[in-house]
Amino acid sequence: MQHSEPATTPFVITNPLPDPLAASKLQVGDTFAFPEDPTPLTVLSARADSHFNGFLLLRVDGSDLPLCIRETEDVRPLRMPRTFHLPCVLCGEVTRSDLDLATNGEPRLLVCARH
Ligand SMILES: [Zn+2]
Repeated sequence: MQHSEPATTPFVITNPLPDPLAASKLQVGDTFAFPEDPTPLTVLSARADSHFNGFLLLRVDGSDLPLCIRETEDVRPLRMPRTFHLPCVLCGEVTRSDLDLATNGEPRLLVCARH
């Protein structure tokens, strides 16, 4: 478990992301690398392959050809910005928090800035 406190402060308690992570967790705008190659790749588009079940077609920055990889393929998450709206555990007020899952981890509990 890891604590993080962004500048605009709700206090969020997080679980670190698994590293490596399944490729199916990637979304457009995320940056990742393959375990065997440290080159950072940014996802431009991601969709399920319509011909092969369990495969993804990823378009990445700097390559004209889409990558076809298994949804379960291991990737190393480098940057995964997400916005969450979570209820404060003390007062219940739903509060927005912007986290980078790759550095902050996944949110579990939030305490809003009023406490
Ligand atoms: Zn609160």
